[in-house]
Amino acid sequence: MKKLEEVFETWEAVIGLEIHAELTTLNTKMFCGCKLEFGAEPNTHTCPVCLGLPGALPVPNKAAIESIVLAGLATNCDIEKHSMFYRKNYMYPDMAKNFQTTQGPVAFCMRGHLDLDVDGPAARERYRLDDLGVGESDGNITRTEDGYVAHVGITRIHMEEDAGKMVHVGGGEGRIAGATHSLVDYNRAGTPLIELVTEPDLRTPEEARLFMQKLRQIYLAIGISDCSMEEGSLRCDGNVSLRRRGAKEFGTKTELKNMNSFKNLHDGLAYEICRQAEVLEEGGVIYQETRHWDPSAKRTIVMRVKETADDYRLFPEPDLAPYDLTDAFIERVRAKLPELPDQKARRFEEAFGLSAYDARHLVEHRETSRFFEACMEAAGGEAAKLAKPVANLIINDVTAYLNAEGVALAATPLSPARAVELVRLQASDAISSKQARQVFAAVLAEDKDPEAIVEERGMKQVSDTGAIEAVVAEVIAANPDEVARYKDGNTKVIGFFVGQCMKKMRGQGNPKVINELLARRLAE
Ligand code: ADP
Ligand code: ZN
Ligand code: MG
Repeated sequence: MKKLEEVFETWEAVIGLEIHAELTTLNTKMFCGCKLEFGAEPNTHTCPVCLGLPGALPVPNKAAIESIVLAGLATNCDIEKHSMFYRKNYMYPDMAKNFQTTQGPVAFCMRGHLDLDVDGPAARERYRLDDLGVGESDGNITRTEDGYVAHVGITRIHMEEDAGKMVHVGGGEGRIAGATHSLVDYNRAGTPLIELVTEPDLRTPEEARLFMQKLRQIYLAIGISDCSMEEGSLRCDGNVSLRRRGAKEFGTKTELKNMNSFKNLHDGLAYEICRQAEVLEEGGVIYQETRHWDPSAKRTIVMRVKETADDYRLFPEPDLAPYDLTDAFIERVRAKLPELPDQKARRFEEAFGLSAYDARHLVEHRETSRFFEACMEAAGGEAAKLAKPVANLIINDVTAYLNAEGVALAATPLSPARAVELVRLQASDAISSKQARQVFAAVLAEDKDPEAIVEERGMKQVSDTGAIEAVVAEVIAANPDEVARYKDGNTKVIGFFVGQCMKKMRGQGNPKVINELLARRLAE
């Protein structure tokens, strides 16, 4: 199979996502009063409504409607005041009612969008980005200094309910094939679920990944779901098709299921794009089908050919009245919107003079953005001065440490006060950047203050000009040949002198001061 970048020479990928989020932060299910609890004893949170017993009537969960309206407002959607529920009929034991209650053509939230900042390595997947000058647009993207912004349309966000969970027993790895019997747990049946559908506006697997990450940040910020991809409270299906570069018509799409991590979403789409290209280039056709991405085998396999909407016999739900959201209700929800990640990033740029890149990376995780704000508070009057180095410390060293150790920031010995102290020590030239990295590691390993570590290890960098001047004079006196070479115009010899001075000072001399003094003395 060709590589993605080779495929992109000939083909353009068209990607649209369908993203389900369980509203895990609510207390009760969508149409009954059963408790929402992940991991409870099977079938302990059920009632006649979510078990689909005859005569049981649904009552909508108002808090769930608030959550979806909040999601719509946070993703620039129009809120539809008039919408209703439908029955999507299907026979499978995971849904005892034999239909899923969902929304029809009009959803609570319609016509939204998110703007994605794509930069760094992620931007390189985009075909011929460099043909665009900074500020120039092509379709839905606009070139920036270090990448581009992609405007991605959101078709709708609708309200629905989750099905129960099937456990197949006796087969391999819980699969249905080879199973002797299946168990059903209805605890999850009726869990409030919102589904967001994007326009087919995405063109690379990286854009799909970034969309998903951005949406997750937003949902976490507005507090409607715990968004756990491992536990399945945030799930993503990727639709993808190819068309020849320059073609207007879309090709036939396949739909990828089981994208339970950002990496799977990216890698599954990348594989599927290459697979489709191979089929098409060999003169084959793409069938509209649902495929499963198997990350360990690194390939996608057919699950089923696509049902059409007719198979579901979608019809209006007679047991639920159509909705009539009032302006007052919508405004009440709007008032609950917290500061969203994009707004927070802009505030960080304005208040602390951070670059857009730094600000964006800080707000990627709530824990790092909160930590940064706590640092700025701890820095007091020096906040503006220390913002950039504090941001660097968090984005690079702290993030790398947390990823490597798999721990939460709050569980480490690094407090905002210690982070600021460390950055201050380096900013004031008391320690070098190399020493700062050592102190950082020691703070985490030994749970001590940076000052104490510097003291203990006698790490203080010597910036005292008098002491350095003496060493510089000594080194210059001891190396007349090198001095002559320098005076002949070979200025690179300065590196030799710096090295000699450092050696004499056992690595504790401030390289900046040494350089300055050397340059001055050698010019004499
Ligand atoms: P379906 O009827 O198969 O569910 P929809 O039109 O509802 O298809 O779209 C489902 C998702 O697939 C949306 O995210 C949409 O943007 C995306 N999509 C639609 N057509 C294509 C296509 N040709 N290639 C890639 N994605 C597509
Ligand atoms: Zn119930
Ligand atoms: Mg559809």
